[in-house]
Amino acid sequence: MDRFVQFLRRQLDIDLELLRVAREDAETGSTRACLITPIRGFRECELKARLLTTHHHCGSGEGPCDALGESYPPEDERGCPTRALLGLPYADRPGYSARWRP
Ligand SMILES: [Zn+2]
Repeated sequence: MDRFVQFLRRQLDIDLELLRVAREDAETGSTRACLITPIRGFRECELKARLLTTHHHCGSGEGPCDALGESYPPEDERGCPTRALLGLPYADRPGYSARWRP
């Protein structure tokens, strides 16, 4: 596994642990500050917006996943696996369709 992937997986593990602590604090009424900051939230929104822009045309024949043969058929609103995964964090929001799950 290359160093970049190792770095990213480690960061995800750290974030998951921080979120577990924050959830535990919320459940127990603890007042410790959550260590995942709003700045992180903004960065993650920027990441998702950039990925969505890159994959905007997937499934139409004009996207990068179309060129790779990895897009979904035109009738599938998700477009490609990347777009489907971008929707996953919002699966509990009103308007999310169960058929959009990756
Ligand atoms: Zn795509």
